[in-house]
Amino acid sequence: MAQIIDGKLISKQIKDELKGKVESLKSEGKEVCLAVIQVGCDPASTVYVGNKKKACEYIGIKSIAYELPEETTEEELLGIISKLNNDDNVHGILVQLPVPKHINEEHIINAISPAKDVDGFHPASVGALSIGKKGFVSCTPAGIIQLLKRSGIEIEGKDCVVIGRSNIVGKPMAMLLLRENGTVTVCHSKTKNLKEVCKRADILVVAIGKPKMIDASYVKEGATVIDVGIHRNENGKLCGDVDYDAVEPVAGAITPVPGGVGPMTIAMLMNNCVEAVL
Ligand code: NAD
Repeated sequence: MAQIIDGKLISKQIKDELKGKVESLKSEGKEVCLAVIQVGCDPASTVYVGNKKKACEYIGIKSIAYELPEETTEEELLGIISKLNNDDNVHGILVQLPVPKHINEEHIINAISPAKDVDGFHPASVGALSIGKKGFVSCTPAGIIQLLKRSGIEIEGKDCVVIGRSNIVGKPMAMLLLRENGTVTVCHSKTKNLKEVCKRADILVVAIGKPKMIDASYVKEGATVIDVGIHRNENGKLCGDVDYDAVEPVAGAITPVPGGVGPMTIAMLMNNCVEAVL
């Protein structure tokens, strides 16, 4: 039976550690503050923003919410970001993506000061990660590294295969595994012999966005399988990119969906907010 990597438990441990740090910062007169901006009222974004606010409350981080109407212009949004960049009482700035189509997402990401870029999406943050310098790291892949480390799974020298090359998951995941001295292969939609490549992996990270695509035939006996995907099936139940029931008997360790990678993303966002003050 595979070791079940419990993201709910590990994310709670991280949030509780952060609670302590936030309290001691408060006693030094420093109040950690995150500004969260949502443009429009996409229901999924409203849920994500709500969860981020709840996590802030739990840890003791002050959150300032900007709920802007759909018709907000790019100029107006850039104006708010500029104000927040210059506000010493605000340590992290997060613009919930996606923004409405009339706003250029890249302009928004680029406008956030790298010192307050708690999502880790700014090109300066991405560049810092690639050259091994200090900077904010995209929260989902940073959370996966914590899951591995806190579950006692060694990365150094291991064959790590990442499926997916998105800017927010696949690419930073590959850079982080490399930073931990893994031997990293990145697969994507044009990869040939995907199964064979995946079968070499000691650690397989799956971020494809296709429900239950990865079955046992992609997995080496005893491998660690990290499932980033989140989907709702026809019965309204959550599932991942990995066919959990088929893969679990083959894997050495595996993350469930829900309760695996998902809770780690917010925990690492909170971690980045605290890091922004330290
Ligand atoms: P994306 O659509 O931006 O990227 C998907 C990647 O998968 C692409 O690089 C593509 O080349 C690759 N791909 C697509 N089809 C493939 C195939 N048949 N074979 C091999 N590679 C293939 O997605 P993303 O933003 O990286 O997200 C991936 C999944 O993770 C989604 O289900 C998303 O909802 C989920 N996600 C979860 C969290 C979390 O907190 N748990 C965070 C971000 C994303």
